[in-house]
Amino acid sequence: MLTDTHCHLADQPLFDDLPGVLERARNAGVKAMVVPSSSMGDWERVASLARRPGITAAFGVHPWNAREGVDLPSLRNRLAEAVALGEVGLDWKVDVPRNIQMDCLEAQLILARELGLPVLLHCRGAFNELLELLKAHPPKGAVIHAFSRGPELMRRFLEQGCHIGFGGAVTRAGAGNARASVVEVPEDRFVLETDAPWIGVEGGPSEPSSLPRVAGTVAFLRGVSRKRVEAASSESADRLGLL
Ligand SMILES: [Zn+2]
Repeated sequence: MLTDTHCHLADQPLFDDLPGVLERARNAGVKAMVVPSSSMGDWERVASLARRPGITAAFGVHPWNAREGVDLPSLRNRLAEAVALGEVGLDWKVDVPRNIQMDCLEAQLILARELGLPVLLHCRGAFNELLELLKAHPPKGAVIHAFSRGPELMRRFLEQGCHIGFGGAVTRAGAGNARASVVEVPEDRFVLETDAPWIGVEGGPSEPSSLPRVAGTVAFLRGVSRKRVEAASSESADRLGLL
């Protein structure tokens, strides 16, 4: 069984072609999908997606949208129907003041901890700051999604109890750091994702039906069967409570 632990079905072009996207995912063996949200404005759409079988939801405010702030009482209500809080995190490569991003993330980490929910984390260029916040407010579980860095940084997130999310980036032959992490990650500490439509696979765009490409690459790099990789990822997703 294949689980796409991070796909943005509420975003275009996926949302307008939902029946096709879901059929192709089914045909590719993708049985479960976790749909994170990015801003308060897409919570309703994500909630409606999660009423379909095989789809679960996460709610939160992404660092790119941190300026809008977080309505914590509304988020708390939404999270009653969610498997995780997300997508949240820190991104030093966008023009959103760092203190605003940190405040936005910290408030959401405190809520996730209080509710006992795992968090789906986005991070670019802010790894030290993210690790500090995770140490201060350790969540019940966490996925550092679209991980593309090397084993040294990966180990620091593993020590913090995080799972590592691998996606389309690892299908690129030039992704040496990410591929080294794929080889080293413990079998019970990674999950697979596409991050569709935002991260493509080698040679083109992605949707959840691209997940076998990611699973195949991970299996090849680890020298094990694709079935074993798919099972390990799905078991971790289940243990985290994402299914
Ligand atoms: Zn994402």
